Amino acid sequence: MKYDAIVIGAGMSGLAAALRLSQHDQRVVVLEKHELWGGLNSFYTLGGRPFDVGLHALTNYAPPGKKGAPLTRLLRWLRIKHEELRLGEHALSEILFPGARLEFTNDFARLESEVERLFPSERAGFAALAEWVRAFEVREDAPPAPSARALLAEHLREPLLCEMILLPVLMYGSAREDDVDVQTFAILFRALFLDGLSRPEGGIRSLLNLLVKRLKQNGAELRTRAGVKRVLVRAGRAHGVELESGEVLEAPVVFSSAGWVETMALAGEHVPRAEVGRLSFVESIWVLDCAPAELGHRAATGFYSTVPHARYRRPDGLVDAHSGVISSPNNFRAEKPLKEGILRISVLANHARWKALDGAQYAEAKQRASEEAAAAVRTYLPEWRGHAVFQDIYTPATIERFTSHAGGAVYGSPKKHLDGGTGIAGLYLIGSDQGYLGIVGAMISGVAMANRHVLMKLAGRAEAPVS
Ligand SMILES: Cc1cc2nc3c(=O)[nH]c(=O)nc-3n(C[C@H](O)[C@H](O)[C@H](O)COP(=O)(O)OP(=O)(O)OC[C@H]3O[C@@H](n4cnc5c(N)ncnc54)[C@H](O)[C@@H]3O)c2cc1C
Repeated sequence: MKYDAIVIGAGMSGLAAALRLSQHDQRVVVLEKHELWGGLNSFYTLGGRPFDVGLHALTNYAPPGKKGAPLTRLLRWLRIKHEELRLGEHALSEILFPGARLEFTNDFARLESEVERLFPSERAGFAALAEWVRAFEVREDAPPAPSARALLAEHLREPLLCEMILLPVLMYGSAREDDVDVQTFAILFRALFLDGLSRPEGGIRSLLNLLVKRLKQNGAELRTRAGVKRVLVRAGRAHGVELESGEVLEAPVVFSSAGWVETMALAGEHVPRAEVGRLSFVESIWVLDCAPAELGHRAATGFYSTVPHARYRRPDGLVDAHSGVISSPNNFRAEKPLKEGILRISVLANHARWKALDGAQYAEAKQRASEEAAAAVRTYLPEWRGHAVFQDIYTPATIERFTSHAGGAVYGSPKKHLDGGTGIAGLYLIGSDQGYLGIVGAMISGVAMANRHVLMKLAGRAEAPVS
């Protein structure tokens, strides 16, 4: 079979890239290894209940029509109306450290006043940091990865404030341990604090259903249970793929959301082990017989640390619950409230340790990890476990099984490729390892790479078509 473009992976970046190409009459096929689409942001049903895999919050919120906002640009590119997403904003989220709590909303002034309340001498420094982020432009030729810690120290004097601002950024997208490069810091600071958080009513399914429906309407193919075994390369140029079934599909352009290390392996190239991401999570999900707000918990998202110097690295043991993310989808505004209460806690985990367990050890370790996470946040949350009616837990092994990311690495490799290039002509990266993370980020990545490597070339111009 011959196509104009092949997309490996039906995660957010793959679906967005394919949708963009199909809107411009490109014959495109999306190949997904699993029976479901969504990748790191997929969905499942367990015990008769619908669950989202990754969705805590959609970052980069923008109200309808807000000029210059990444979400506005993305929706215009994909010809999706803002109201189709049915986004509900968070009423508030929080950053929790021993003896210190900062609240934030989608109004950045709230975070500024919280910083002033807790750290009065840092008001000007924090404002200058925000200004620096606003003015920052992502550059593909940026020098390699200066440290966001150094940037924070230039603007702020209170080490605790630096930690409190850095933790959410690390948790929502750093593939580097204990730090992040300034470019990713700027992208994520903006996504979390300047733009803000929301949730599509109906969860990730409603967004995925919309993308898949549009893809099919445009005549694009979405093939599930269609794992790619090899990217076919001749004379340094990709010309198609071979599926695990042995079927060969041809196209002059192949986009891959499988990840940098994984994509190069598909193309028969070796990548050093140091480039495999090290950061993965265990997430515990409790279904409650009441909304968390009824118990006194009103935050949609909470980034917590139980120690003043937050940890963000692969733990030696199975998990490290000293820092993590607390998420409650009930605490986003919605026309129809969720039927049940949900609380999720994600903590850092060691993929190799989880993979080494046998069946019985694995089940027991999941339970222990979830208890550790619950114990770690007990000073930050009202008691909720007496209200639990159902629980699910997933680990780095689950993440690897369902997304094929080496090491269960949620944010991919620490090595990013902003131009999408792989060194093989016609083979381009999209998604996390291109450099944009999160749901909106991954979709922007897919569209931006489709624009750059196909649509701009077709149109013979230096800018992508506007819509
Ligand atoms: C626990 C968790 C919580 C998260 N929370 C949030 C959040 O609240 N907000 C947010 O914005 N982001 C969140 N994220 C991050 C977000 O999910 C990702 O950044 C984003 O979805 C990545 O999309 P992607 O398209 O780059 O990659 P992926 O979603 O990884 O998609 C890659 C796809 O490629 C497929 N694939 C791989 N190899 C092959 C092959 N050989 N052949 C065929 N198919 C293949 C995989 O099966 C997968 O479907 C979270 C992630 C996790 C795991």
